[in-house]
Amino acid sequence: MLHNEWNGSGSGYFLEYAKILYTGQTRYQSIALYESHQFGKILVLDGCIQVIESDEYHYHEPMVHLPLLMHQNPEHVCIIGGGDGGILREVCKYQAVKTIDMVELDGEVIQFSQKYFPEIASGSFADARLSLTIGDGRSYIERTTKRYDVIIMDMTDPFGPSVMLYTREFFTAVKEKLRNAESLFIMHSESPKFRPMTFSSIHATLSTVFNDVVPCFHTIAMYGGLWSFALCSPGQNIIIPEERVLTKKLEALGPLKVITPDSYKSKFICEPWIKSLLVSNTKIITDADHGFLDLFPENAQQSF
Ligand code: SAM
Repeated sequence: MLHNEWNGSGSGYFLEYAKILYTGQTRYQSIALYESHQFGKILVLDGCIQVIESDEYHYHEPMVHLPLLMHQNPEHVCIIGGGDGGILREVCKYQAVKTIDMVELDGEVIQFSQKYFPEIASGSFADARLSLTIGDGRSYIERTTKRYDVIIMDMTDPFGPSVMLYTREFFTAVKEKLRNAESLFIMHSESPKFRPMTFSSIHATLSTVFNDVVPCFHTIAMYGGLWSFALCSPGQNIIIPEERVLTKKLEALGPLKVITPDSYKSKFICEPWIKSLLVSNTKIITDADHGFLDLFPENAQQSF
């Protein structure tokens, strides 16, 4: 059997799986779990692949270690979304982190992930530093009185329940909950190759809020290919640490599968075609106009 998914207009990808372990509807989204010989378990929300057991670290490692290795002393971290627990698992590796506030809309995703693939979270939901809120990430950020050194947003694609977490107004609220100019915010920003307008609009919108917005890149097969992240600073503090600093910090974390002192720097390489893309499309996403030019819910899954 095949799970197929549009990347963007005119192209897509598919994954073969052997059996359906579960399909259903939570209060917020459809949820499916497949079992594949090559990839292990595959979690799908609203028709979009979220996590593949064999490949998940390609997403979770860059998303966490790009900001946390850069920040001098990340004591207070906030995770928005991330129901499968992969982001939380990587954050828990930092002894410097004193508190982790996690706000996930759909408690059923957490329960489901814990039941069917607990190895993704690897027990991190039991970490004493974690304070878990089940609710909307935007409401939490707008209401919390806390301030964070690093905020990590691990969100579904910008449609459905996550759509209002990709707007200038929300990014402004995120910036207000960062502790100081050294704080960092990271989120994924889709694929510059398959969803160029969505990618560049997210960066254009972030750039109206943050002083410094730097695109980072990694090939993530489970999302169809070249993927991106947006690393944001309210100051001018996106500075790649020296190799000796990265080496020392990475030694304390234990072995990773993607991030090393060399690969860390390579994630910041922005090729000329992408720079041109960032200059060419500057559509700002707002609460009033949150339509992306190359991303529609029906992109998520079509029967080929
Ligand atoms: N890595 C995936 C990706 O890049 O598409 C995201 C994985 S993670 C499972 C996405 C999480 O965002 C899900 O658990 C989903 O329930 C959560 N989510 C969606 N909308 C949300 C919202 N408004 N507030 C908080 N969490 C939300």
